[in-house]
Amino acid sequence: MTFSIAGLAVSRGISIGRAVLAGSGRMEVAHYFIEPGQVEGEIARVRSGRNAVIAELQRLQEDIPADAPQELTALLDVHLMLLQDEMLTSGVKHWITERLYNAEWALTTQLEVISRQFDEMEDDYLRERKADLEQVVERILRHMKGMVHPVAQPHSPRRRTQQDLMLDDTMDVPLVLVAQDLSPADLLQFKKSVFAGFVTDVGGKTSHTAIVARSMDIPAVVGARSGSQLVRQDDWIIIDGDAGVVIVDPSPIILAEYGYRQRQIELERERLTRLRHTPAVTLDGERVQLLANIEMPQDAAAAVAAGAVGVGLFRTEFLFMGRAGSLPDEEEQYRAYREAVEGMQGLPITIRTIDIGADKPLDKGHKGTSLNPALGLRAIRWSLADPGMFRTQLRALLRAATHGKVNIMFPMLAHPAEVEQTLAQVRLAQAELDARGAVHAPAALGAMIEVPAAALMVRYFLRHFDFLSIGTNDLIQYTLAIDRADEAVSHLYDPMHPAVLRLVADVIAAGRAQGKSVSVCGETAGEVGMTRLLLGLGLRSFSMHPAQILAVKQEVLRADTRKLAGWAHALVDADLAPSAESLLNQ
Ligand code: PEP
Ligand code: MG
Repeated sequence: MTFSIAGLAVSRGISIGRAVLAGSGRMEVAHYFIEPGQVEGEIARVRSGRNAVIAELQRLQEDIPADAPQELTALLDVHLMLLQDEMLTSGVKHWITERLYNAEWALTTQLEVISRQFDEMEDDYLRERKADLEQVVERILRHMKGMVHPVAQPHSPRRRTQQDLMLDDTMDVPLVLVAQDLSPADLLQFKKSVFAGFVTDVGGKTSHTAIVARSMDIPAVVGARSGSQLVRQDDWIIIDGDAGVVIVDPSPIILAEYGYRQRQIELERERLTRLRHTPAVTLDGERVQLLANIEMPQDAAAAVAAGAVGVGLFRTEFLFMGRAGSLPDEEEQYRAYREAVEGMQGLPITIRTIDIGADKPLDKGHKGTSLNPALGLRAIRWSLADPGMFRTQLRALLRAATHGKVNIMFPMLAHPAEVEQTLAQVRLAQAELDARGAVHAPAALGAMIEVPAAALMVRYFLRHFDFLSIGTNDLIQYTLAIDRADEAVSHLYDPMHPAVLRLVADVIAAGRAQGKSVSVCGETAGEVGMTRLLLGLGLRSFSMHPAQILAVKQEVLRADTRKLAGWAHALVDADLAPSAESLLNQ
């Protein structure tokens, strides 16, 4: 039966495919696709894990003292029975052979399938056996952890089920990821495989999970509440990334309608590619810089290919994530930055120092204990708290600057003392490189304006830095006191709030008055509905996901900044929050 789930639209477009439920919660396991040649090996891994647990339980059974309670023996019997259940073994085999899931993923997927059946049981006693099943699966997983298994290259599965073949005999079935939550590190892992879209129960519009989805340019919906509970493994689903809606088990009519819309979107994209080499100049001759935001060094070349004239934000923290505690050393970082710089083919790149903390934990198990992580030790605070780690990154960046046009940018500065310490660390890093005779080059230094305190002290920042970049994602979060990752308050997260617009307008004006470059690198820079307002406020440099560049360029080409300036400043002066509709109609 068709039903829909409402969430937040975070990455545009339509995708239609089969649901892949990525297990979450208690059992954190790796999810990757295996090669067809690894199927037997993966099945064997589950089998040995299962046999080891059976042997363990049988040993326990033998050693049970005669006076042990009857329930204990009964419980062991239940566990042994569950382990030998045909549904568990055949289900796991199915996910490995048909979907090419790795062994752990197949096991947790099947656990979920069976758990749902337990949930539906009338009998209380039987329903409670779900906990026993979870325990035996956890035991199998623990045994498997100790086993060596070949490293698989993630790739798109080629196999299709009978039903897929009936539906379409000419293409591979796209897979859509559905999860309770995905960390940015999870997503980067998934970036290597081919998912056509994803849905998560939690997350806000500018949570880092949403940002990575946009950078992958795949339709996504976050904040779908209990979506991962309602969707079943292998269900057909449609993700409408524009409306923020997920349609489960669509009827043929709905499928046809969305298929049509999908083709329209593709046509529009193709049409936009004609603007790829057109300079971004407004009707009144104002040149506008359209830059890209990237997360990995390899993204640099893709950004250039997408028509960016530079990178305005390289979020380096993704290099540090999901490494189980070990941080990349200077050499590894230098190689990564150098790859990004060379990928730019002479175009400038602004590399931001690490912004770890809040919704970007180093790894999943390292969320920190802070009650309010967005206000805690994150970004520059994290770097200044560990100057050795910070200078390692600075040295790597200064060395990479010898290979192209590198700007270094610092996140979340708010205090003059932080500014002074940051600049002192840069000088120290240069001195360390000189002392060991390492080749390095000077880089322009910039500050992100993403805390209201920094926006209010913009003149101080302009005295100390070569350029500024407004991080609207955090500026909105901190100005309006709205957690950017919390879907419960996402309706209050408003880029057009008069207070936010006033801060943005003041920073742009102050930068222009001093002839220093100011850009916006938060998500608002890539929203076509915001382009004219930002142009009207005097912004001439926008940094966004590469996929948005041509759509924003189209807006720039149609704009006349002389007409927009009066309108935009009047809006800000009148303390009016413009509606999205009025922005588009302007
Ligand atoms: C921002 O805050 O707007 C920004 C660009 O930084 P991030 O999204 O990485 O916090
Ligand atoms: Mg930020």
